[in-house]
Amino acid sequence: MKKGKTFIICGPSGVGKGTVVARLLASDPTLYFSISATTRAPRPGEEDGVHYHFLTKEKFESWIAAGDFLEHAQFVGNLYGTPRLFVDQAMERGQDVLLDIEIQGAEQVRQKRPDAVRIYVAPPSWEELERRLIGRGTEDMEKVRSRLARGKEEFAAAKDFDYFVINDTVEHAVEEIRAIMTAEHCRPVERIGRAGLR
Ligand code: ADP
Ligand code: 5GP
Repeated sequence: MKKGKTFIICGPSGVGKGTVVARLLASDPTLYFSISATTRAPRPGEEDGVHYHFLTKEKFESWIAAGDFLEHAQFVGNLYGTPRLFVDQAMERGQDVLLDIEIQGAEQVRQKRPDAVRIYVAPPSWEELERRLIGRGTEDMEKVRSRLARGKEEFAAAKDFDYFVINDTVEHAVEEIRAIMTAEHCRPVERIGRAGLR
């Protein structure tokens, strides 16, 4: 059976990655969302094993030492990483995998898995990004400022991504990401493999 493909969703904090990913998952039950591990504290409503695997720093470091991460990175004071095993199992089952990760992690995945498709999600403007991040109400102003600064720094790398989607409305962003996923499955090497044609 043909393996699933990996799609990396990257973009500044507060742009709407989680919102867009949730919509994609709701509309396609065959998609697999990679639940990351993090040392960040859970936000109200976030559940261990659903939104993240919430780990202590020691536990996170033991996972690094055991080679359990496909990639891992530090982001504004916390560690985040993609557990390798679940991603590989989903791909072996033929499921497409969605990774919602920051830019250093995306680069590590690109180096290890060059066939992963990298999608950068941008805000319609920096002012709108700030409104969304403040409006979400999950970080204090100091953290909001660090996240905004980090997002602007990382923007230089956006032009090297495979695709660039502007999250003006969630519907529009979801529609474009679905179109990207469909197009990627129409590449000859994908199609011929899946169809079993020779
Ligand atoms: P991220 O996962 O990229 O950090 P979130 O998905 O948490 O971002 O979204 C940040 C905030 O912006 C949330 O309050 C969310 O409801 C809101 N949001 C997401 N997409 C849009 C959009 N297209 N228009 C307006 N608000 C949005
Ligand atoms: P948040 O704290 O807002 O949930 O996430 C902060 C940033 O960490 C976001 O850019 C998100 O994409 C990224 N992130 C979440 N999980 C991972 C992961 O497993 N690896 C990496 N490298 N980044 C992650």
